[in-house]
Amino acid sequence: METGLRGMRVVVLGGGICGLALAHRLGRAGAVVELVEGGDQLGGLGTFFPWRERWVERFYHCVMPTDDDLLELLDEVGVRERVQWRPTRMGMVVDGRHFPFNTPWDLLRFTPLRPHERVRFGLVSLLLRRLGKGKDLDRLRTEDWLRGVYGDRIWELLLAPMFGSKFGASFGDVPALYLWQRLGRESNVSVRGYPEGGYHGLIDALRVSIERSGGVVRTSSPVTRVTAGGAVTLASGEVRTADRVISTLPLPTLRSIADDELARALPDVRLPYQGVVNALFFLKRPLTGHYWAPVVRSGTEFDGVIEMSALAGEVDGRHLVYVMRYTDRDSALYREDDGRIAARWTDQLVGLYPDLTPADVDDVRVFKAPFVEPVYPLGYLAQQPPVVVEGTPLLLATTAHVYPSVTSWNSSVGLANRVVGLLDDAVRPGSPDGEEHAGALVDQLLQGGGDPHRG
Ligand SMILES: Cc1cc2nc3c(=O)[nH]c(=O)nc-3n(C[C@H](O)[C@H](O)[C@H](O)COP(=O)(O)OP(=O)(O)OC[C@H]3O[C@@H](n4cnc5c(N)ncnc54)[C@H](O)[C@@H]3O)c2cc1C
Repeated sequence: METGLRGMRVVVLGGGICGLALAHRLGRAGAVVELVEGGDQLGGLGTFFPWRERWVERFYHCVMPTDDDLLELLDEVGVRERVQWRPTRMGMVVDGRHFPFNTPWDLLRFTPLRPHERVRFGLVSLLLRRLGKGKDLDRLRTEDWLRGVYGDRIWELLLAPMFGSKFGASFGDVPALYLWQRLGRESNVSVRGYPEGGYHGLIDALRVSIERSGGVVRTSSPVTRVTAGGAVTLASGEVRTADRVISTLPLPTLRSIADDELARALPDVRLPYQGVVNALFFLKRPLTGHYWAPVVRSGTEFDGVIEMSALAGEVDGRHLVYVMRYTDRDSALYREDDGRIAARWTDQLVGLYPDLTPADVDDVRVFKAPFVEPVYPLGYLAQQPPVVVEGTPLLLATTAHVYPSVTSWNSSVGLANRVVGLLDDAVRPGSPDGEEHAGALVDQLLQGGGDPHRG
């Protein structure tokens, strides 16, 4: 395949799914790629740890049938067939009581809502995607929109806890467009996918593909400095230069290692980010079989339970259950010792499920990540940082660039595709070269992808 990228030297910063997808696509297009990852594993938020001869993900992950960009990538590297699809079900825990939450019949028996509220919830939910059409949801607060269409009690009791956990108290302020997009990706009774053998195999396949195209993949190589001229310094002291540098690092991380000139050139968008504290329990028995259950007013610090084994099966005879709380990386919880969190959350989980005893908990691990979800302000489509950092060889492909799509492996792969496409267009012989063209193109691509009226 002839592309304008043949022979172009590109350094990709970060070996999460976005960096891997970028390096894979660039390599296939003939670019000379080097990927540098600070950690000792590839996969970023999708990384894993060894547990009794198996690899287990630190954070719960699944694939949705609508994840077209991701599935196409997995196809290209020969691992799409590993994704096993299963119907999954959802529950709700309110005031310590457990409810299935999947069918109209479940809703009618959902006693935390009054009877007329259950009917309203069901009807509005059916119509919600349609109700959003034609509205400028990017400038409408989620809380204002949902309180308006569902009423106050449904917002407070159900919607804020169900969808708000990622943003905490800020959820109501996030543009309604985010939720609207999310509803297009998932629903409560949903077929979900999980790769046989875990995410480890997908990441290995991407690495092999990158190396087959002549790319170099370096782990345990934290980047400590990036200059406006495109020089990348590694912790070892080595300096890398290239025609283009593409950073997938969270914007605050990049800012902290940018030289003064690059810091001035970076877009002046100071997004707050939510991090996550997540505990993984290895249980000797299953819970309810619900893949996902938001937990509301039930005396727990975590606000959701993911019963991963309902989707992915057991690991060495153990049922995997993740519980999580999204929180700021400076919060007391985030800074607390992992062992103390594990002990307290074990008590809380045992208290939440009447049949579960401490003896059923075989093991528990706590994992944290500081930058998971940018907290988008109203009108973010107009403020979203451009991909091209003007006047430098640097491009940005970060989670702050996937809005209004939900942060996911799929949206990171979609972003990687668009960034490679625009780079190719910008340098292809005969096309107007230069950052201005590339900047305009990416704006067009990203803004086009975010048009709420196209849904
Ligand atoms: C609890 C949880 C559950 C999730 N569930 C799902 C799900 O079910 N399905 C789904 O699709 N998505 C899910 N996600 C979201 C998904 O994990 C992310 O959207 C995706 O992994 C982001 O990929 P990325 O490559 O953009 O960023 P990251 O994965 O954050 O990758 C960035 C990489 O940069 C590296 N890095 C940072 N600083 C440096 C440095 N100085 N030098 C070199 N390297 C550096 C990091 O080590 C990391 O590997 C979940 C996330 C979390 C936290």
